[in-house]
Amino acid sequence: MKTPFHSQQSLKSRKLLDKQGPTVVKQSPAVEDREEESGREKVLICRQCGKHIADEAWRISIDGGHRHTFANPHGHVYDIGCFESAVGCVGIGPGSNEFAWFKGYSWQIVACTGCMTHLGWFFHSSGQHHFYGLILDCLVSSF
Ligand SMILES: [Zn+2]
Repeated sequence: MKTPFHSQQSLKSRKLLDKQGPTVVKQSPAVEDREEESGREKVLICRQCGKHIADEAWRISIDGGHRHTFANPHGHVYDIGCFESAVGCVGIGPGSNEFAWFKGYSWQIVACTGCMTHLGWFFHSSGQHHFYGLILDCLVSSF
């Protein structure tokens, strides 16, 4: 999709140049550069719908590690990674501090805003610290 746009654009610019000289060339190279730059950073996207969920740079350590494996009361095992931030996630339902996986933190379920797949949990402490614990199997690395 990008190639025809670029060739059209350059044809147009050439015509403008012929007619009016180099002063009136409408292009937005700055915007394109910026898009390409942010595209180079590695991100994690929803495995189901491809929505951008978090950046690799947002991985953090909690309680001595980034990855934690937990089982919920129904015996379902989750392999989660801790992230200081997450986009493309929305909190679902009320918060809870039952079965707290991280001491001192209550949690809320978070789902993908694109497809509503359960992606993990938002944890927050009474001391205002918070982070996301995202199920690593639900995320895919992308550029
Ligand atoms: Zn999704």
